[in-house]
Amino acid sequence: MSNPNNPELKSFVPVSADSHFPIQNLPYGVFTSKDYKDPQVGVAIGDKVLNLSFLEREGHVSLSQKVFQGGSLNDFMELGPAEWQKARERISELLREDTPLIRDNASLQQQCLLPQSEVSMHIPVKIGDYTDFYSSREHASNVGSMFRDKNNPLLPNWTHLPVGYHGRASSVVVSGTDFHRPCGQVMPPDASAPKFAPCSRLDYELEMAFFIGKGSELGKAVPVSEAENHIFGLVLMNDWSARDIQKWEYQPLGPFVSKSFATSISPWVVPLAALKPFAVKGPEQDPQPLDYLQHPSDLLPHYQIDLEVYLKPQELASKQRISRASAGNLYWSMAQQLAHHTVTGCNLRPGDLMASGTVSGKTEDSRGCLLELSWGGKNPLTVAEQQRTFLKDGDEVTMTGWCQGDGYRVGFGEVKGEVLPAKL
Ligand code: MN
Repeated sequence: MSNPNNPELKSFVPVSADSHFPIQNLPYGVFTSKDYKDPQVGVAIGDKVLNLSFLEREGHVSLSQKVFQGGSLNDFMELGPAEWQKARERISELLREDTPLIRDNASLQQQCLLPQSEVSMHIPVKIGDYTDFYSSREHASNVGSMFRDKNNPLLPNWTHLPVGYHGRASSVVVSGTDFHRPCGQVMPPDASAPKFAPCSRLDYELEMAFFIGKGSELGKAVPVSEAENHIFGLVLMNDWSARDIQKWEYQPLGPFVSKSFATSISPWVVPLAALKPFAVKGPEQDPQPLDYLQHPSDLLPHYQIDLEVYLKPQELASKQRISRASAGNLYWSMAQQLAHHTVTGCNLRPGDLMASGTVSGKTEDSRGCLLELSWGGKNPLTVAEQQRTFLKDGDEVTMTGWCQGDGYRVGFGEVKGEVLPAKL
């Protein structure tokens, strides 16, 4: 009974079948509440939060050192997989239906189990560097067909290495943080000079992202076989993008200010350990990548995470689903991304964030951004009675994702944000 992934485990905290946070998940986040003004590390269980910082102070959770008092997950993430597993096993034990410690102690329960509706979630990690990859073949092919050659959409390097760029960490925000439509330099199609204007092609990108736990040494490549030892956990990500600004600025060094104004992540970091029952092989890679990018034969390097995107135009009372995709179909795995990231000797640090790039699938309804769904703005999307090519002011985008188990879900909750008017 000690394996926290055992589907048979039940908590004394009630968890509905469609909840994202059963006892098999145990994602970590950072919150404040009426009684806890300083940021606390918590774990989601059903619709409650377990206050891990409090339990550590009281001596009910203890690792090799105190790591839940710093207002972020970083101290814990640095400890590495053996201590992560120890914490996971202890939290699972504390929440099990047959463990009386919290279950039978009303005053302890009141102090350490809070309704999620009464807490505010914060950015869970002090993020060091942020890297965004481009690992969906379908997404890269769709964009390549639109802007280059529909018969030959992928650039020659794409099937040989996980393409990526260094993003901006300072503007990564937690779900629920609204932002103003960015302004910047754009080159209108028939103009001879650029102009300064509010972005007129504002888009979202459906992505998954992972946090580096234990870092690596400068000058030392991390092999694919060891990469997952550095991965602490995953979140949902919306990589908001200003397509008109991007189009004008991106050559020859890639996106710059068109991507750096806001990037939203979900507040709960799902441990990689909780995703292990949902590991899958992923697509065949053809051509075979170079040796340093090859998976060990016993590694299932992808994770079957079902993803959905919802749009709520200001004019509508409820959100409408506009696409669904699966992270299990990504071409390049997280392990390959890490191996490639470090191959020249670049080191990893605890709290670094790495994202998948837009997740798209083969079907039209599985395209992971409006650029693809509206095919470059040519085919407007109908959302209830509303037409959209790109985002309007007042639009709210919500993304969600989960792994479906037998009778339970290991989920990510959601990441959402609303577009506020440009500040001119
Ligand atoms: Mn992106």
